[in-house]
Amino acid sequence: MPQIVLRGNSPLFGADLRQLGHVFFPGEEIAVFVPAADEPGGPTAEGTEWHADVSATPSDEDGLHWTVTVAARGPEGAAHEARGSLDRGPDESPRTWDHRLRRMAKGLLVDALGALRGFRPGWGILTGVRPTKFVHQMLDAGLPDPAQELMREHRLAPDKASLVTGVARLQRPYLNQDPRAISLYIGIPFCPSICSFCSFSIYPILEHKGQVPVFLEALGREMEIIGGAIEELGLRVQTIYFGGGTPTSPKDEDFAWMLQKAAATILKGQQPEEYTVEGGRPETFTRAKLDAMAAHGVHRVSVNPQTTVQATLMHLGRIHTVEKFYRAYDLVRNHPKGFTVNADIIIGLPGEGPDEVTHTLQDMQRLAPDNLTVHTLAIKRGSKLHQAEGEAADALRAMTYDEAEMLIRQAAATAREMGQHPYYLYRQKFMVGSMENVGYSLPGKESIYNIQMMEERQTVIGLGGGATSKWYKPLGGHHGWLLKAPDNPNDPSAYVARVEELAHRRVEQLRLLYEPHIIERTE
Ligand code: SF4
Repeated sequence: MPQIVLRGNSPLFGADLRQLGHVFFPGEEIAVFVPAADEPGGPTAEGTEWHADVSATPSDEDGLHWTVTVAARGPEGAAHEARGSLDRGPDESPRTWDHRLRRMAKGLLVDALGALRGFRPGWGILTGVRPTKFVHQMLDAGLPDPAQELMREHRLAPDKASLVTGVARLQRPYLNQDPRAISLYIGIPFCPSICSFCSFSIYPILEHKGQVPVFLEALGREMEIIGGAIEELGLRVQTIYFGGGTPTSPKDEDFAWMLQKAAATILKGQQPEEYTVEGGRPETFTRAKLDAMAAHGVHRVSVNPQTTVQATLMHLGRIHTVEKFYRAYDLVRNHPKGFTVNADIIIGLPGEGPDEVTHTLQDMQRLAPDNLTVHTLAIKRGSKLHQAEGEAADALRAMTYDEAEMLIRQAAATAREMGQHPYYLYRQKFMVGSMENVGYSLPGKESIYNIQMMEERQTVIGLGGGATSKWYKPLGGHHGWLLKAPDNPNDPSAYVARVEELAHRRVEQLRLLYEPHIIERTE
């Protein structure tokens, strides 16, 4: 018998029970029961440690007045019941009604479990990846104070409501208004070694060095095909982002060739507003690679320690030392080009507590990158950490909600002291403390690509291993139409085999998206 049972009297509540269950019981096994029809499903509270029952029932014959109840029980007879009522409009669409019913049920679930568990999740009922998108929709609709609505209706803590609305307001001027502006993402699926928390399909470059030349050849072909479409359709490359993986993993001459090829096939004289190389792993930086970046107009470079505690780095399977990170950082920072420098760190790494995080934050303050990106550890399926018996659950349980919150605040305070403000944020499933990832920046040094990619108001064409493309068609005002195109294969061999076919399919889709008469209508 599972020790945590969450039940609902409608299938409508299944996904919400699961998602909020993980917020309140991180790393634990949770059993969710919802009936196929409107009959209660699953076991009763007997024999379980935690139990919550969500029920929505009409209290009149016409089904216009409803009561929603959440009855929760915990160990040693602890119990809490939360109740609310809702009126259904006679002409209300089933979709809107379901949405309102779920929102009320989620709010009451947070109230009831929060009372029993002794903490209120800062993000309230929001479990989605992009809370800022939600705020942009509210601002588009003319809502004067989204923070108030987030606190009242969605149970956000005041600091999270203020964070997400502040970020969205800061992003507004960056949101794409030019229907022909696009961004490009180029994924290089190789890394020096695989980090234990990594959930991407990444290939250790030394073990796969035989595949690198054919991968690069295929990437070059893909650049030619996509570059031809960009020129034909008159698209403006606003940002270009080399990510992965670690795009600086290949040899110096191969790396320089990639940048050269992108200049010759995609950019063809265009000067993007922002050009980023997410170098990531410090051991891959060389002066020759930085010179190549400078020669090809790269503005922004990421050099990511994740932590500056040596013992943690070793535990994570990263094969570089802290010293190597310091040297790589100096190399990038002191390059005459004057790159904008980003550094990523992670809070909640296995074995790390306040002392270790403080050490890393002090290092960041000393080094003073232009962008500091603070991630909270997410233990996703596919990562070695998730597969290691019991380790994922242990890591999620290791840090309490309050500890994670305290460290997130400490990181925010450090960024503030460095003169940086939060400019983009996103959340992931299975994050320690159910927190968030936040990008901080000195004013004017914000990454435009990060904003466009996260807010999904611009077409992003993905090239390379595992790359995702998103088609966005503006439809006037801030409204638009978004479609996620099929991903490129992660596996280099599969990518090489299918690159030509997939690139041509994307060109066909781009032609449909950017047909001249459609663009003219929206301009
Ligand atoms: S450096 Fe990044 S992409 Fe590469 S293995 Fe580590 S987490 Fe994954």
